[in-house]
Amino acid sequence: MKIGIDYDDVLVDTFPSFIDFHNHRHGTNFRIEDITSYFIWEVGIGRTKEEAINFFREFYDSLEFDEMPLVEGAREGVLELSRLSGRFVEVVTSRPLEFRVKTIGLIRRRLSDAHLTLHYSSDFHNNANGMKAEICQALELDYYAEDCFAYARDIAQRGIRVLLRRRPWNENEWRKLRAEKESKNGNGAKYSRGGIIPIKNWQEILDEIKNVNGRSKNGVS
Ligand SMILES: [Mg+2]
Repeated sequence: MKIGIDYDDVLVDTFPSFIDFHNHRHGTNFRIEDITSYFIWEVGIGRTKEEAINFFREFYDSLEFDEMPLVEGAREGVLELSRLSGRFVEVVTSRPLEFRVKTIGLIRRRLSDAHLTLHYSSDFHNNANGMKAEICQALELDYYAEDCFAYARDIAQRGIRVLLRRRPWNENEWRKLRAEKESKNGNGAKYSRGGIIPIKNWQEILDEIKNVNGRSKNGVS
């Protein structure tokens, strides 16, 4: 079994940290619930995509960036995924390669005992070129955890089961998926390759992967 995860907002709480930083620096009052689009210029952070990306670069250059917390449960989750699969967990990020120093730095500081490999697709805020999905496919992942619906859809189309973390920027899609899941057979719903699985937190990521694995070991699925 090969498992991949996203970096921002799956491993580290990037958007909440960015919003705090941005509000402080620019005197704005955004709340995390206001970020109803992954493409933040659509909700008023930056007038254009370029401006929004420049705001994010400003955050990258700050000390606050280095102090971003891990997502709750991520540390234990990553260690468990690596144990379950017996492999390195593949972290596939759309961050550009120029962000690599701090991207690796945080992992060295906070997750030095985790078995992780980092891949950069560099299609930062631009899923149109499909690089992230291509990398996931080339790695032959069975599972990938993601928070952006547009990436999730592209990756799922390549036959990977995608675990979509609930966040304000995917709330509509997440709710639809959750309703479908519950109408099937509750938590016992089985997902074939290429399905998008709505999850709330790291515990649900682990439950989902363990359930499917447990069932197939028992010859049920
Ligand atoms: Mg992300």
